[in-house]
Amino acid sequence: MRAQPKASHFIDGEYVEDDAGTVIESIYPATGEVIARLHAATPAIVDKAIASAKRAQVEWAAMSPMARGRVLKRAAEIMRERNRELSELETLDTGKPIQETIVADPTSGADAFEFFGGIAPTALNGSHIPLGSDWAYTKRVPLGVCVGIGAWNYPQQIACWKGAPALASGNAMVFKPSENTPLGALKIAEILIEAGLPKGVYNVIQGDRATGPLLVEHPDVAKVSLTGSVPTGRKVAAAAAGHLKHVTMELGGKSPLIVFDDADIDSAIGGAMLGNFYSTGQVCSNGTRVFVHKRIRKEFLGRLKARTEKIVIGDPMDEATQMGPLVSRAQLDKVLAYIDKGKAEGATLITGGGIPNDVSGDGCYVQPTVFADVTDGMTIAREEIFGPVMCVLDFDDEAEVIARANATEFGLSGGVFTADLARAHRVVDRLEAGTLWVNTFNLCPVEIPFGGSKQSGFGRENSAAALEHYTELKTVYIGMGPVEAPY
Ligand code: NAD
Repeated sequence: MRAQPKASHFIDGEYVEDDAGTVIESIYPATGEVIARLHAATPAIVDKAIASAKRAQVEWAAMSPMARGRVLKRAAEIMRERNRELSELETLDTGKPIQETIVADPTSGADAFEFFGGIAPTALNGSHIPLGSDWAYTKRVPLGVCVGIGAWNYPQQIACWKGAPALASGNAMVFKPSENTPLGALKIAEILIEAGLPKGVYNVIQGDRATGPLLVEHPDVAKVSLTGSVPTGRKVAAAAAGHLKHVTMELGGKSPLIVFDDADIDSAIGGAMLGNFYSTGQVCSNGTRVFVHKRIRKEFLGRLKARTEKIVIGDPMDEATQMGPLVSRAQLDKVLAYIDKGKAEGATLITGGGIPNDVSGDGCYVQPTVFADVTDGMTIAREEIFGPVMCVLDFDDEAEVIARANATEFGLSGGVFTADLARAHRVVDRLEAGTLWVNTFNLCPVEIPFGGSKQSGFGRENSAAALEHYTELKTVYIGMGPVEAPY
């Protein structure tokens, strides 16, 4: 098997196996080939990982932020040196084309280690509070053992986006990747050890929806950061609330992208295509409801159709391929069912709408699909599809489109394309979402906070803001004189 790791889990600095766990098959979605066979963590493995993190966290937190940062920055360098190898593994794990993974996956993970390694010595400072002759100070302290639970669309990036701020703050982490993409996180754990991370500070265990609760409920876990769907978020947040644990929830979306009639149409189409077709549409922040002003609708759809039909679908390892398969057969079936619903509910199919003819075998391929004449009540306009299915809706009034864009339980992201600066600011100000873009879409460099509002979650990843979610404030009051008690 071409991507078989040494063992399923990485605990206390080494690979560990426990054959008693349920078998997890890692399937390359471009061919259906089984590329690795692993085991879900048994309760004994979960205990071992958390015990190792608990022990190692004490030593790690005692190091200076500067020393911790140095390890993370070294990990970033190693990831960049091995970008090709890591990108190929990411492509095998997910089916995403190498053209994407080589620029967007290990590099984005490396950015997180570099950024948090770099800010650790300054961003964790506390404050001094003068109180007359007395005074107080605050310090940011780590939470302890943090659990990261990942989705399958960006397995290496998620492992790093959670690991980097957690570790920079002096926590230890037990990370569980999605059962669909178990491979990448193991390499991140290996690289961290090579960079000088003390054993046990970053551990990876495999598992599925049955394993997650063992981590969330564990009494030695202080915090859970989940990237996943809204239904999973509700379960994980409820379980964590039972123990009053800290949580970060990075969940799903059905985000609006609004194109006004004064927009640069080619840029808007480019933004809409990136925000619907990148990673075969499996991006949480995608702008899947594209509201286009009625005056430019015809031109927009004509150019969009022509560009969409030129997308090169095929072998993800071929550098010329622009779109690979979906992550799994289950995801393919789900996306095809949504396409059928779009047709049945009366949306106009502009292009795509099925399985491409020219890619053979057991690959989980679907055509990039555009529906027009989509109305707000249609299932494809309300539910997260998580595939390359763009819904184009018409509008002709600013206030109307803002109200319609906000009429959703989700609030992850949003975007606006317009040449009118005042309108751009006015509209993004009124859109109910955590991350917004003007005249671009889906750019998430590590320097900016990322996260959702409403049912799309809470807490923020990336930027210095993420450190607030991996630390708590300790206040120390210093009495400088005798205590004056009234009794
Ligand atoms: P999912 O919710 O099915 O699974 C996410 C993870 O949670 C997996 O590792 C799974 O094993 C685990 N899990 C499932 N049930 C659990 C439970 N009860 N307790 C603990 N863990 C449990 O999501 P998915 O299908 O892997 O990913 C797609 C979803 O993730 C989409 O909704 C997408 O929008 C979302 N997503 C969000 C972001 C973001 O940053 N906001 C990023 C990527 C993906």
